[in-house]
This record gives sequence, C-alpha cells and structure tokens, in this order.
Amino acid sequence: MAGQDLKALADRAATEIAAAADEAALEASRVRYLGRKEGALSEATKKLASLPPPERPAYGAAVNDAKIRIEKALEAREAALRDAALARELGQEREDLSLPPRRVRLGRLHPISQTMREVSRIFATLGFETVEGPEIEWDYYNFEALNIPPGHPAREKWQTLWISNPLGDDPSRPILGRTHTSPMQVRIMEERRPPIRVVIPGRCYRYEATDAIRESIFFQYEGLAIDEKLTMADLKGTLYAFARQVFGSDRKIRFRVDYFPFTEPSAEIAFDCFACEGKDPNCHVCGGDGWIEAAGCGMVHPDVLRRVGYDPTRYQGFAFGGGIERIAMLKTGAPDIRLFYQNDIRYLEQF
Ligand SMILES: [Zn+2]
Repeated sequence: MAGQDLKALADRAATEIAAAADEAALEASRVRYLGRKEGALSEATKKLASLPPPERPAYGAAVNDAKIRIEKALEAREAALRDAALARELGQEREDLSLPPRRVRLGRLHPISQTMREVSRIFATLGFETVEGPEIEWDYYNFEALNIPPGHPAREKWQTLWISNPLGDDPSRPILGRTHTSPMQVRIMEERRPPIRVVIPGRCYRYEATDAIRESIFFQYEGLAIDEKLTMADLKGTLYAFARQVFGSDRKIRFRVDYFPFTEPSAEIAFDCFACEGKDPNCHVCGGDGWIEAAGCGMVHPDVLRRVGYDPTRYQGFAFGGGIERIAMLKTGAPDIRLFYQNDIRYLEQF
C-alpha cells in the first residue's frame, strides 16, 4: 500500500465513522481500521519492514498520519453519539411537581433547656454571670456549710439520695445527689472574693415519689449576690425585674416569711397570676388563689459568710432559688411535670 492509498484509506474510514449510527457500529469501524490483528493499519505497519530502507521514513509517516486521522474521527463520533444520547434522555425526563417532598425534621432545644437559657439571659441583663456546679456533691456543701449539720431537723425537708462513697465509704465524708443548687453558693464564695453576682441553673435529685408536680430529677436555678451594703431591697428589686421579664411587665410580686437555715431573714416569693390576675376562682394556673409560688429567697446567713472567710460586718448577700420546670409549666401550660421527661416527640415538638 503506497502513501496515496493510505490517505484514501483514511478518507474512507473518516466518512464511514462519521456515519456510524450507534456505538456498536463505531466499535466495528475501530476494529476494522485499528484492530491489532486484522485492522487495515496493522497490515500496513507490518509491510514497513519489507520496504527498502530509504522508503521507510516516508511510509512510516504516512501510516502515522492515517492512524491519527482515524483516531480523531472515532473520538469525534463517540462524543457526538454521547451528546445525542444525553439530549434524548433529558428530553424524555419530566419533573413531577406533584410529588410531596421528604419531611425535614429540624431538631430544637428541649423546653427545659430553653427555660434555663431564658433564665440565664434575663439574669445576665441584671449583671449575673451563669456558672455550673457538680451534681454529685459532698454532704458538707449540700448541708453542713449551709447551716444544716447532721441531725438538723431541716434535713427532713430534702429527701436525699445518698451515694456510696467510691473513695472507700468514709462515713465522715458522705456524698449525695445534690438536693438543691444551693451548695454552689458556698463553692463560689470559697473560690472568689466579693463582689459576686452569679446564677446557677442545674439538675438536682430527690428521693421522692413522682406526681404531676414532683420528679426525682428536676432542675433549679440559684442566684447569689455578695457585696458591701446589699439589702433586702436589692433582693426585691432583682426578683421584680426577673418576674416581669418572665411573666409580663405588669406582674406584682408577694414576699412572705419563710424559713431556710442558710438565709436570714428568709422569704417565699409568689407572682400574681398572669392567667387570671386573681379574678378567676377556678383558674387552672393558680387554682383560684391568685398567686403563684415561684421561689425561695433571703439574705445570706452571717454564719455562712463567716464559714467561707467573709466578714459579715462588711459584706452582705442575698440568695434565691426556684424550679425551672415550674417556670416552664407556667409558660407552656404543661399540666404535668413528667411530660418533660417522657421524651414523647409529639409533646416536645410543640415548643
Ligand atoms: Zn389564676
């Protein structure tokens, strides 16, 4: 086969390839021209060795040209067939706009977490820093340092879950699930010097049968302020501001004498009912009382201050504590505290 014949072969191949109807036809052309065993160009290459040496370079170049042209033609046709197939496919596809989308389930904060953050946020506006403390506590911080020594009758108020001491059951250092967030008052005062303004939200434990308003695991918030010249008026002002931010700007607040071993004087605070404002004897929120008990509070007992090395003639403080669930129940209208902890997504999703 001479040089011109090779060119004619490439022309023929290019025409045939450009007309290939599908991939099978294209593959047949590839085998016919480039196939290693019987392809036309393989035959031509074999002939190269039998030529007189001076003719070999020109012939070799002609074989190479023909090969390149055929390869390019194959590539071009292959791309064209692929594009055509894609266009056909796209042309047949139809968007079904009536198909309902898959539901996206967004997670969100639990109502108790939402309430704790709300409490922290409000006290932050009053200058209180949020801190956290241990849920497993020494008897010392939970009771003794708060003026409740062993045998003190006030211990009856807190049904305690005692924990066997992993450090060897040393009976002189009992540990427990903290029954309130108040131990953090002592821990904070031991660590810092006044002025102190902290709020401590957290989980507490009590050995208690559960019912609609009691759980053995529950959340409290605790507040503590220590400074020079703090009075009961500062306590009242702080809790007024808090109550009004939580339950509305026209809330009234009631202080009644109460008793806690670690505050003196001590008080119980109640808000006037935001649902009926004391006008509905059958109110489902206040039970017709007109007031909603919300928290305990008082001025920090001088003995508690002395125990952490503060001079009670120079520093005074106030403390308060209430239930997170109580606020969440009042705000959401939840009829039963247990609903918060049953993890029923149908209930929790409402918040
Ligand atoms: Zn009411």
